[in-house]
Amino acid sequence: LSARVVVVGGGFGGATAAKYLKRNAPDLDVTLIEPNKVFYTCPFSNLVLAGMRTMDSISHNYNELRELGVRVVHTTAQDVDPVSRTVSLGDGSSIRYEKLLLSPGIDIRWNAIEGYDQAAAEQAPHAWKAGDQTRLLRRQIEAMDDGGVFVLTAPANPFRCPPGPYERASLVAHYLSQHKPRSKVLILDAKDNFSKQGLFMQGWKDVHGDRIEWVGLSGDGKVTRVDAGKREVETEFGTIHKASVLNVVPPQKAGFIADRAGVTNESGWVPVDPVTFESTQVKDIYVVGDATIAAPMPKSGFAANAQGKVAAAAIIAALEGQRPLEPSWANTCYSLINPEYGISVAAVYRIQEGLIHESSGGVSPSDANATFRKLEADYASGWYSAITQDTWG
Ligand code: FAD
Repeated sequence: LSARVVVVGGGFGGATAAKYLKRNAPDLDVTLIEPNKVFYTCPFSNLVLAGMRTMDSISHNYNELRELGVRVVHTTAQDVDPVSRTVSLGDGSSIRYEKLLLSPGIDIRWNAIEGYDQAAAEQAPHAWKAGDQTRLLRRQIEAMDDGGVFVLTAPANPFRCPPGPYERASLVAHYLSQHKPRSKVLILDAKDNFSKQGLFMQGWKDVHGDRIEWVGLSGDGKVTRVDAGKREVETEFGTIHKASVLNVVPPQKAGFIADRAGVTNESGWVPVDPVTFESTQVKDIYVVGDATIAAPMPKSGFAANAQGKVAAAAIIAALEGQRPLEPSWANTCYSLINPEYGISVAAVYRIQEGLIHESSGGVSPSDANATFRKLEADYASGWYSAITQDTWG
């Protein structure tokens, strides 16, 4: 089977797809376009913020993919022409494809919250893409005065990693409890319900007492304006909150290359055929990961990895003139309340009447004992090692 497949994005979805394309069809010509030589995972970046892990421990490179025979090109895909089936690259060259797979992750919707633009993110980091933003937020947390307030603003659905803001609040609270015990965490939320809410709230009460305060939409939690210089936010009904450290998790959309390829719809995300993850709008372009509309699957690294494998198999089937297999996917999202206390949500998804459905799943028991919570924290580390090994080697 000789054909050229181009993969854009070397994160959870793209690196997995490139690897499984080459593994399952070694004669395929697979090129991976990714600007960064080192990829820092968002999973476990909250542990870096809390001083529980180093940046080095969440970094991965592309050596194993190269050894497998994937051609890795470190540049940005700038544009896609679906008619000539060409991707133009940041280095001025271009590359032709027979099948194109995009896994560009998210872009921030700058100015969706008044005052929150790229410059503001240098003072009030989002740290919703890992790397320099993670380092910046970590430095700010370390420099925070004891007695200060860490303010985290959380967006409405859909967004990358539904439990992510609440795990971050938990682990920042853990760090503060050890190093700045008079400090607090305030979550200002643009919604009234969030992932694993019951378990988080119980965990906060058990472990963090009243250190973490959460204000939902109906309690005036929706932030509409940010003044990054003053580290102030204003809510929908005009309340001003002053932060010592301000972490804005802003509204998001699919990475820009999805727009350029013409695969996004008016929502800013990418509709796909759930069996193959081929775009419903442009033929021969497959999209996986956070950029897609794949609900009820969450925007998680676990899901992106699973979708990458499904799309890789579907691309090989299409090139061989075969029908795609009917896929099923699994997802587990672990979150830590502190290093000893893990919780999770897990599900299996199948196709039903042409759509993705959750066929079984659930969350950690609410009455679990300390041993069980500790075990789930251990499973989280095991999951991290396994998924990063599967994705980057
Ligand atoms: P990414 O992994 O972000 O990869 C996208 C890649 O595409 C990037 O490397 C980028 O450089 C590249 N790219 C973008 N545009 C272009 C272009 N034009 N040309 C070339 N390359 C391009 N998920 C879990 O499953 N478990 C967790 O515990 C978990 N914890 C999280 C904690 C936090 C704080 C956050 C923010 C997220 C967490 N996630 C977790 C979610 C997870 O990070 C994402 O769901 C996952 O990264 C999505 O994979 P992706 O391939 O869609 O995007």
